[in-house]
This record gives sequence, structure tokens and C-alpha cells, in this order.
Amino acid sequence: MSTPNELPVVVIGAGPVGLAAAAHLHERGIAFTVLEAGDTPGAAVRQWGHVRVFSPWRYNIDPAARRLLDEADWVAPDLEALPTGAELVDDYLQPLAQLPQLKPYLRYASGSRRSAAWALTGCALPVVSPRRS
Ligand SMILES: Cc1cc2nc3c(=O)[nH]c(=O)nc-3n(C[C@H](O)[C@H](O)[C@H](O)COP(=O)(O)OP(=O)(O)OC[C@H]3O[C@@H](n4cnc5c(N)ncnc54)[C@H](O)[C@@H]3O)c2cc1C
Repeated sequence: MSTPNELPVVVIGAGPVGLAAAAHLHERGIAFTVLEAGDTPGAAVRQWGHVRVFSPWRYNIDPAARRLLDEADWVAPDLEALPTGAELVDDYLQPLAQLPQLKPYLRYASGSRRSAAWALTGCALPVVSPRRS
């Protein structure tokens, strides 16, 4: 039986805040799992991807996430530019979620699995509910 200290921190949602939390947890050496209801990182932001935000890039990039991305030779956008939601996902959240430090710990529920229920096991694998006929 696992003790609470052996269990990962569970982050709900792979949006800008959830992925930033994951980057900070990684930096601190704390085990984590990110559970995302959508198919991809930034699924909620993607829904308004055509809209340009009012905060320039410099305020949208988390410092811990930036450190991880820089190690991976990420090319940062113009920090004064205003991205669209889609650019926020494509140019920041997706590359962040693909990093080997984060990717293995991100779990998505997608498509026909949208009604999935996650069960936290020792390795925090998602468990899909049986389909109703
Ligand atoms: C049109 C628009 C323009 C905006 N412009 C700006 C701006 O210029 N500057 C600014 O600071 N903010 C702006 N915002 C707000 C910004 O989008 C949010 O502050 C930011 O996305 C919050 O990040 P988040 O990760 O907390 O939440 P979200 O981006 O909402 O991400 C949450 C994630 O969690 C997932 N999720 C939700 N429920 C569950 C669940 N039960 N289980 C698992 N996963 C779940 C969602 O699918 C999503 O991927 C704007 C918002 C909109 C709609």
C-alpha cells in the first residue's frame, strides 16, 4: 500500500497553468501526473484559438517552463508580440508538453474515451470506463 508521500501530485488540466505547475514540480524533483480532459495540451485555449490575447508573450511564458524549453533549444517568440490562442498552444504549450521531462506524465482523455474515468494507480495510468451498448 502506498503512503501519501509516495503518491504523485495530480495536476488537473494541461493548460498554461497546469503545464507550468508540472515544470515547477519537475524542477523540485516532485513526482506528478497531469490529467487533461481534452485530446491535447491547451485544449481549452484551442477552443478560442482564433482570438488574439491582450497579454504579450512575456507574460504568457512561465519561468520554469522557459528554463526547460531553453534546454531543448526552443526558439522563443518575440516577447512583445501578442499571440493568438492557437499560437499559444502551437508555439508554447505543445513544445512544452512534448519535452521528455513532462510528456511521460501527461494523460489525455480523448474522443470516444471522453467519458473516461481516471483511476490513480501506482503509476497513475488512466482507466477507461466500459462502453455502454
Ligand atoms: C478569448 C480569451 C482571451 C484571453 N486572453 C488572455 C490574455 O490576454 N491574458 C491573460 O492573462 N489571460 C487571457 N485569457 C485567460 C486565459 O485563457 C486563462 O487565464 C488561462 O488559459 C488559464 O490557464 P489555465 O491552465 O488555468 O486554464 P485553461 O486554459 O482553461 O486550461 C484548463 C485545462 O484543464 C482541462 N480541464 C478542465 N477540467 C478538467 C477536468 N475536470 N479534468 C481534466 N482536465 C480538465 C481543460 O481541458 C484545459 O485544457 C483569455 C481567455 C479567453 C477566453
